[in-house]
Amino acid sequence: MRQVVPVVPEHYNSAIELLSNFIGGRWVPSSGADAFDVYNPANGEVIARAPMSTARDVDAAVTAATQAFAGWSETPPVIRARAMFRFRALLDEHFEEIARQVTIEHGKTLDESRGSVRRGIECVEVACGAPSLLMGYGLENVATGIDCTAMRQPIGVCAAISPFNFPAMVPLWFLPFAVVSGNTFVLKPSEQVPLSMRRVFELLDKCDLPPGVVNLVNGGREVVEAICDHPGIRAVSFVGSTPVAKLVYQRATHAGKRVQALGGAKNFVVVMPDADLDRSIPVITESFYGCAGERCLAGTVLLPVGSVHDEARDRLIESARALKIGDGLDPGVTMGPVISQKHRQRVLSYVDQGVSDGAALVLDGRKASVADRPNGFWVGPTVFDDVAPSMAIGHDEIFGPVASVCRVKTLEDALRVMEAHPNANATSIFTSSGKTAREFSHRATASMVGVNIGVAAPMAYFPFGGARDSFFGDLKVHGRDAFEFYTDRKVTISRWF
Ligand code: NAD
Repeated sequence: MRQVVPVVPEHYNSAIELLSNFIGGRWVPSSGADAFDVYNPANGEVIARAPMSTARDVDAAVTAATQAFAGWSETPPVIRARAMFRFRALLDEHFEEIARQVTIEHGKTLDESRGSVRRGIECVEVACGAPSLLMGYGLENVATGIDCTAMRQPIGVCAAISPFNFPAMVPLWFLPFAVVSGNTFVLKPSEQVPLSMRRVFELLDKCDLPPGVVNLVNGGREVVEAICDHPGIRAVSFVGSTPVAKLVYQRATHAGKRVQALGGAKNFVVVMPDADLDRSIPVITESFYGCAGERCLAGTVLLPVGSVHDEARDRLIESARALKIGDGLDPGVTMGPVISQKHRQRVLSYVDQGVSDGAALVLDGRKASVADRPNGFWVGPTVFDDVAPSMAIGHDEIFGPVASVCRVKTLEDALRVMEAHPNANATSIFTSSGKTAREFSHRATASMVGVNIGVAAPMAYFPFGGARDSFFGDLKVHGRDAFEFYTDRKVTISRWF
């Protein structure tokens, strides 16, 4: 494996590593003058610096990817799949190390990191089935003596831009599918969590992929804009907040690219009076507070229907209070910090806003602290009752461990609250009635629905993505949609004289 040489520019006096980019099969320094401090959110220490790369770096990556495309797209799918089998084996071998890296740079607990890395590996496993999944179809005699085939062909250089909340998993929603389909690939990870992908690319470097098939460009807005604009990139996948998803969708489609842009969420969790609360409340608690609420599928608004309101609220408070916050690497910790001091302030200001808007703060996490980690970015589990859906805490994506409980009389009311919200990512219902569950699943606006499931995350072989302001595009992420997104269908109609 090539050595990763840290490049420390003169204006940095510390030994904290400035990360490199991976372009054309080599680790190379970014041409950017600035860098973004990467923190361990559990202790507030800077652990690395992500270079703010430039349009020039993106161009170098696209040039390398374009050169690699000619050979890689002609490589038989079974050989491309073999590279993914190697990748899968290496990810498995380094599973624990990558999971620890995710916890160190993101803050989630080690178990949560393990779960997310496993989900990422499952995408690689599905991509290994490419020789079957990439098959086209055909029909003889579409007219007498004329045959027709539809074959899948790779489309060219594809790029993905990922958010901070799943440093390893989200990039793996794209990379294996793009590459196994015969495309070449440029990834821009979140500047807040670049280390997990650095490690993953070190492993990719051992997979005998030709140079330029996979490229990594660290950075922020300039890199994203260059990806949207670069004429050599054919498809862009984006995952992040709704305002940026909209921008990326508009800018990249304007430049003629195929785009899938996954945005933010406000996920409603309905509890019916017939729900089995003993089994539901632990699942609901995990939905609201897992990954410190920094999940696009996290429950954020609880809608207990009618008579179950007080009991559901009280049991959620009791269960949230029992969570143990701390460094995600420490055994027994069930909730880690949020990603940054800035994000912590943002979450806390939402809590302040909820109080001034008149919601009842029934569990206050604002003063949370961890004895031996005074500089961690802590927010304790928080619960508001009597939230109106129009309040900021009932409407905006807070992306932290804050639950808003609203009063609704009927399932119809709950569906109306959801219907009125512009986001439609995920939703869940807790009930013991099949009829109610069926009605809910059929009518919910969100595209990912859980029935007695708190985090309705589709597996790698199903499509992942929301609707309305949570998703811009048509083909969703992983599953069969991935092979649609990453290929063109070429139809040949033949007659032999
Ligand atoms: P973000 O939108 O701030 O950043 C996402 C990416 O866009 C990052 O790589 C970042 O560098 C880049 N970026 C940020 N601002 C930009 C700008 N102005 N112009 C161009 N690029 C820009 O999102 P985040 O805070 O990293 O992640 C959290 C968000 O992601 C939440 O809203 C969450 O719901 C969403 N998310 C959605 C899904 C989904 O499946 N829908 C999955 C995970 C996360």
